[in-house]
Amino acid sequence: MDLLEINNLVLGFNTEKGYFNALNNVSLKIHTGETHALVGESGCGKSITAMSILGLIPKTAKITDGEILFKGKNLLGISQSELKDYRGAHIALIPQDPMTSLNPLYTVGNQLVEIIELHQNLYGNEAKRAAIEALDNVKIPSAKERFNQYPYEFSGGMRQRAIIAMALACNAELIIADEPTTALDVTIQAQIMQILKDIKKEKNTAILLITHDLAVVYQNADEVSVMYAGNIVENAKTDEFFKNTNHPYSIGLLKSLPENRNKKLFAIKGHPPMINDNIKGCKFHNRCEFNMPDLCCKKIPDLRHVGENHCSACFLN
Ligand code: SF4
Repeated sequence: MDLLEINNLVLGFNTEKGYFNALNNVSLKIHTGETHALVGESGCGKSITAMSILGLIPKTAKITDGEILFKGKNLLGISQSELKDYRGAHIALIPQDPMTSLNPLYTVGNQLVEIIELHQNLYGNEAKRAAIEALDNVKIPSAKERFNQYPYEFSGGMRQRAIIAMALACNAELIIADEPTTALDVTIQAQIMQILKDIKKEKNTAILLITHDLAVVYQNADEVSVMYAGNIVENAKTDEFFKNTNHPYSIGLLKSLPENRNKKLFAIKGHPPMINDNIKGCKFHNRCEFNMPDLCCKKIPDLRHVGENHCSACFLN
């Protein structure tokens, strides 16, 4: 059984201009011990997909169809308090800005101890020892001294590590890492990604890695799904994706990678559509160099198999 299976998720937003869909039949699977990268430009629906899993969508959003199965149980059919239990014990979030998850009024150590007491049945000195070990495991230097410090005394990279330590303390089976390194400088980014890789290997934790950075995907993911305007447009195992990239949007993203800029500066023309843009047919057609107007502007391409474990939504196939 897959650890997480999202099937045909449809979500929309109530806005001043009316109701608009932001996710259209989004489906993806995450297996235990695998890193699945969800890639795309800002506003394509990556983060709202993650927030749907956690039951943390804004009040203006509404899920109108689909299911989110965690170990076979539909998270869309359970109460908020049950969902809160899942968030604590099974699914953890590593946000882009760790300060949104850390309480500035408590020491990092106290926040960790609280989680350890709740999830590991360790108390007092034992919980404190486990907390220091957890900080040490995510390579926070001088973990014993850092235990007594407040989040503001930690650097950005250390705060992100503290959040990872908290996710581990919950024994989370699935970690949702939402652009976890975007706010960090390059060397710290690499260290954080290495810690996540180590966790996956040691604890068999699954990771949903949300990113706009294909270089991060290449180095860290087992499987990749590319999102555009609320749709998954391509899905494949990572090796296969980079070897036989199929969808024109994915090809454009790859060509825009910095290492290719020496050869030829490339940017996908235009901008991703706004939620209220009423684009008929393939949502990428006004940016696509292969657009076949009679077809692409009228019909929506289905996600179909283009190889082993490889799907793409494009009429060129
Ligand atoms: Fe381009 Fe048409 Fe394929 Fe869309 S369906 S990506 S417009 S070729």
